[in-house]
Amino acid sequence: MPTEPRNYSARYVFPAAGPPLAGGSVTVRGDRILSVDPAGARPPDEYFGNAAIIPGLVNAHTHLDLSGARGLIPPTDPHHFTDWLRGVIAYRRTRSPEQVQADIRAGLAECLRAGTTLIGDIASEGASWDTVIASPTRAVVFLEIIGLQGWRGEEFKFAMHYWGRWHSGRAMCRPGLSPHAPYSVADSFIRMSSGFELPITIHWAETPAEMELIASRSGPFVDFLRGVGVWDEAELVPSHRQLLASIGLHAPRAILAHANYQPTDAMWRPGLTVAYCPRTHAAFDHPPHPFREFLARGVRVCLGTDSLASNPDLDVLAEARFVHAKYPDFPGDVLLKMVTLAGAEALGWADEAGSLEPGKSADLVVVPLPDRDAADPHELLFAEHPGERRALFRGVWR
Ligand SMILES: [Zn+2]
Repeated sequence: MPTEPRNYSARYVFPAAGPPLAGGSVTVRGDRILSVDPAGARPPDEYFGNAAIIPGLVNAHTHLDLSGARGLIPPTDPHHFTDWLRGVIAYRRTRSPEQVQADIRAGLAECLRAGTTLIGDIASEGASWDTVIASPTRAVVFLEIIGLQGWRGEEFKFAMHYWGRWHSGRAMCRPGLSPHAPYSVADSFIRMSSGFELPITIHWAETPAEMELIASRSGPFVDFLRGVGVWDEAELVPSHRQLLASIGLHAPRAILAHANYQPTDAMWRPGLTVAYCPRTHAAFDHPPHPFREFLARGVRVCLGTDSLASNPDLDVLAEARFVHAKYPDFPGDVLLKMVTLAGAEALGWADEAGSLEPGKSADLVVVPLPDRDAADPHELLFAEHPGERRALFRGVWR
């Protein structure tokens, strides 16, 4: 159905693919972006005033199924992470499948309110798929794989195979696999998961305890894994370096969640992405995050909110604002890409989403700006500022 073009303008347009345009505009026809123009190029059909028009936001790492846990499991210091994990396991046991579905709906609604139009969700038992696919958003739903015991190999292979088969070919939601973490998944499953040519994400180099376990088979995780009855030293990945090699074998792309620590033996290669979760990182009081070192090495870095079991909300722009407040000198254009284009590239949607460019999907967010001037307009976008955001998804206001 052909529709008339609509032109949207505001104080600033941030295309993410290029510099901010003062008084610029975005013209949309149907579900596509027709053009992105500097001030005065076209008469606006709608002018949003003191606001920014930015690409739809990308939250590259979250767990919608933990959305009922806000404030219930206080993050620990980095050396007592296994205590927090015990809290998450105990919490999960209290939730019925109906409650989990309600939590997923509430978490997704919170993501959408923040202006998120592309989500990387890690789903225990794939539970978020039906809700996400029925919602006005793009997503990759990663089936979570947890298991250190090789005898369950066939069962996992079956689950991974059918997850990919049943869910491929859908328009807005794609399947991925998430071997949970180096301390919770057998090396053989991690290698197996890369054989399905699906996107992969794994929690990686998250805590000192994980680093100690993989490097020397010791530390708090040994007791933790014994306690839950799955300790099997022979099943652990040999090293973080080996893990990177394993997941890179066939997987089209891999997202390493957290990467709060840099293993000395890590070998970086193109196609890898780090999903940094800034406020969760801060809540666990880790040393400063090495995201700038990663960027300097050519590793793609995007942002995620992690879950409400460790984060105050699911607003990925608030993550970027947190980074800006902490590192005011960090370039605003790079930070914007970390919540838009870099996430879209990492999740495999960059041909459709992540920037305001002609031909891409008409996904954009209108973000209110503070009433002042700044030498760099990114400072206005990343300043703490309240106000409701509006999101256009595939040319339709949500
Ligand atoms: Zn996570």
